[in-house]
Amino acid sequence: IDAAEFIKSQIRTVPDWPQAGVQFRDITPLLQRPKTLRMLTDLLVERYVEAKLDYVAGLDARGFIIAPIIAYELNVGFIPIRKIGKLPFRTVSESYELEYGSATVEIHEDACRAGDRVVIVDDLIATGGTMMAGKKLLERLGATVVEGAAIIDLPDLGGSKLLRENGLPLYTITEFS
Ligand code: 5GP
Repeated sequence: IDAAEFIKSQIRTVPDWPQAGVQFRDITPLLQRPKTLRMLTDLLVERYVEAKLDYVAGLDARGFIIAPIIAYELNVGFIPIRKIGKLPFRTVSESYELEYGSATVEIHEDACRAGDRVVIVDDLIATGGTMMAGKKLLERLGATVVEGAAIIDLPDLGGSKLLRENGLPLYTITEFS
C-alpha cells in the first residue's frame, strides 16, 4: 500500500454534514496521527523542494493547517488567503459563485511582490471556486502561481478540470468519486 492509498484510507467520510446529502470528507484523522501527518506533509515538501518557491499560500480555513508546515520545511514564508473581513490591513478581494449565493476571499495587498513564486494549498477541491479565487488574488499582486495543491480532489464536481483548463497545474494526493 503506497502513501497516497494509506492517506486515503485514513480520511473519514461523514454522511449528511453540514447538510443532508453531503458526504463530508474529514481530514482530522490524518492530522491526529503523527504518521499520516508526516506522510502528507512530506509528499508536499518533496514535491516543491526544488520549485524555488518564495511563499506557500493557504486557503482559509483547512489550508491554514497544512500550508505553514510546508512553508516551514521549505524555509519560505506563509501567506493567508482569508474569508472576507478577517485581514486587518489593506486588502485585495475576489468573489465567486457558490451553489446558493457567493463567497469572497481576501489577501493583504503587500502579501507578496511581482514575480514571486507561490504554491496554493487547501484540503479539498470541489467546484474549484476557492482555489481559482486564490489564484486570481495572487496574480493580481503579480505573483506566479506555480501550482495548486490539495489532499483531496472530487473530480465529479469538475473543479480540478476547470482549474487545469484555466492554466493552473494541480497536484492532489487522492480522490473520491
Ligand atoms: P470549492 O471552492 O472547490 O467548491 O470547495 C472547496 C472548499 O470547500 C475547500 O476550502 C474545502 O475546505 C471546502 N470543502 C467542501 N467540501 C468539503 C469536504 O467534503 N471536506 C472538506 N474537508 N472540505 C470541504
